Amino acid sequence: MTDCCAHESPESGDARFDIMKVADGVYAAVAAPAYKVNCNTAIIESDDGVVIVDTHSKPSAARVIVDRLRELTPKPVRYVINTHFHWDHWHGNEVYPAAHPGAEIVSNDITREAMRRKGLKRIDDHRRQVPVEIAKLKADLAAAGTPAERKQLEANVRLAEAYLAEVRTLQPALPTIVFEQTMKLYRRDREIHLLHLGRAHTEGDVFVYLPKEKIVITGDAMIGWTPYMGDGYPEDWVGTLDRLAQLDFTHIIMGHGEVAGRDWLRTFRSYVHDMVEAVRHEVAAGATLDEVKQRVPTKLAPTYEKAFSKYGEYRPWRAGLLANIERTFAMVS
Ligand SMILES: [Zn+2]
Repeated sequence: MTDCCAHESPESGDARFDIMKVADGVYAAVAAPAYKVNCNTAIIESDDGVVIVDTHSKPSAARVIVDRLRELTPKPVRYVINTHFHWDHWHGNEVYPAAHPGAEIVSNDITREAMRRKGLKRIDDHRRQVPVEIAKLKADLAAAGTPAERKQLEANVRLAEAYLAEVRTLQPALPTIVFEQTMKLYRRDREIHLLHLGRAHTEGDVFVYLPKEKIVITGDAMIGWTPYMGDGYPEDWVGTLDRLAQLDFTHIIMGHGEVAGRDWLRTFRSYVHDMVEAVRHEVAAGATLDEVKQRVPTKLAPTYEKAFSKYGEYRPWRAGLLANIERTFAMVS
């Protein structure tokens, strides 16, 4: 893997990506961690056009990718795949049909329905909630003690304000093509499989699999830090990852974090498994939520804290774990 495109290009937004070549014509645009998170994008070039996987939290971030695509290929974007319904993976959808007329947005029917029922409502929620969030950040800024704290909070205020401006004018673009279990794109030089393997991070997670190149794109069913389970199914997650593990691949382009190998799949799967089993064990023994939140981190930290702290500055392991425990406790109780 090489960093193919380190030079600066004219970028239209504040999102920053490292574009890595994963195989010939297949790239991972790895988003720099930030206060307002952007997802990674996978870029798959074929003989007649480009397939994009996921579109970030706001149109300007997707426009950064549209600009940088010109460094890679003159071909048009034909398909945009959404892996799930979360804001940071589809709010940039509108950019692609505008920049590449005829581009289709593809997901499974479960994810399109989740966007329609929940995603659209959350856009309204964000329009109401982000001003409150900005006011809180500004109050924190006024009270900040150190120059480093001030600098961080100022950057967070800028990102929150930029996000608010864009979410206010968002033109949500829902998928134009949906599938149920599987959809396959056969291009002259490439096969692209879209798979629903069961519930994990959401009810409709889509995996994109390139069998010849041995690459899988997971959305947030696998990420580089502690998974978010707020809309997830912790008890189903391991089974879904086990079905994923049956595929033949060597490289994993995740929803967030750097490109990984199968070793990270093993670690990630075993974290989800051990967390769920530890919570189940405590619940069966009659423990309260407070007791579970005391005991389970102590049990898991020696094995997992270091591995899941690579992006700890942005996504602290312990906060993520406690949220996972709460979700799992609610699901198994
Ligand atoms: Zn995400």
